[in-house]
Amino acid sequence: MAFKPANHIQDLQYFGEFGGVNPSISDSSTYTFLSAKTMFDTFEGNADGCYLYSRHSSPSNLYLGEALAAMEGTETATVTASGMGAITPVILQHCNAGDHVVSSRTIYGGTYAFLKNFTPRLGINTSFVNITKLESVEAAITPNTKILFCESVSNPLLEVADIKCLAAIAKKHDLKLVVDNTFSPLSISPTTLGADIVIHSLTKFINGSSDTVGGVVCGSQELIDDLRNVNSGAAMLLGATMDSMRSASVLKNLRTLHIRMMQHSYNANYLAEKFENDGLKTVYPGLASHPSHQLFTSMMNNKYGYGGMLTIDVGSLDKANALMELMQERNLGYLAVSLGFYKTLFSAPGSSTSSEIPEEEQEAMGLSDGLIRFSIGLDADIERTYKMMNSCMKELGIL
Ligand code: PLP
Repeated sequence: MAFKPANHIQDLQYFGEFGGVNPSISDSSTYTFLSAKTMFDTFEGNADGCYLYSRHSSPSNLYLGEALAAMEGTETATVTASGMGAITPVILQHCNAGDHVVSSRTIYGGTYAFLKNFTPRLGINTSFVNITKLESVEAAITPNTKILFCESVSNPLLEVADIKCLAAIAKKHDLKLVVDNTFSPLSISPTTLGADIVIHSLTKFINGSSDTVGGVVCGSQELIDDLRNVNSGAAMLLGATMDSMRSASVLKNLRTLHIRMMQHSYNANYLAEKFENDGLKTVYPGLASHPSHQLFTSMMNNKYGYGGMLTIDVGSLDKANALMELMQERNLGYLAVSLGFYKTLFSAPGSSTSSEIPEEEQEAMGLSDGLIRFSIGLDADIERTYKMMNSCMKELGIL
């Protein structure tokens, strides 16, 4: 049977301790043991089903992790305090001093800053490549490379990674292919295409309420056990643990993700087509003009569409700022970073979420000053939204 990520979430059945339809929230940081021996065995990692301390794991975190693993088709998963709290331990778990990472150059600014500025202090260096040019990806690999890192759909340029081909390269050179799937949950299932590890910032579409930060690493049982190891696990020792109260609330939001993604995609596709027809430079993977439209189409789970993210280029930062301020004044969305909210969110990435990337590198990768990144909301009447956005653009002389 074809992989159906939303079914996999729905098929999970958890009950609360009193038969509640939601699992009980584990409101404890520590757990008792009936015998001292079991406590010792748990420390040694030999007591399955026993909880020790909530930085290691908690029932609520395990419920959410299992639901996300079911969605991504991995053996298991571990949830973390933020998306960066998922990315950083995965890199540090796989790389020692002297090791090397090959990463897409168009990635979230925080991930870029970690690889560019932080890990070199630990002797881990990164080559940043154009992920759409497979020959430059392969050329950057050295005998010390351990990880090939990319985003399925990149932040903010919406470049699409050819996960199947990247997985083949990773396999050939014995690397782990780590894919950040934050921009395309449900639409793209990286492990079915050969990725080894899938990461999400739960902060975005998956939670969908812009009320928390959160993250997840989905992968093999061996990887997740390693990350949680009390002696050497980067997730356990760096301590970016999600709180149980929060994982319970993210789990509840996860159940409507499939409906939300369909509406985000429908609305984004509608606006992208209209904007492009109006003559705006528009980037959206659902448009035939997107250089990787065919590739996205070949990888996607059709029903969930091409996602809720699009960009337009209005020519200058001043124009971008004026448009965003006017759209906010007219209640068409919020001038805010982040994504996946019910309201449309917009920001100019060059001066916000990608500002960690030096100007000359922004230019080289095509990140221009006038670029506006939209996370399209769940608007019930997208035609009205379009008309109002169009009149803002006309008023400001953008159209
Ligand atoms: N990955 C992507 C693609 C992102 O856009 C972000 C944040 O914007 C992150 C990771 C980091 O996630 P968090 O802010 O939850 O740490």
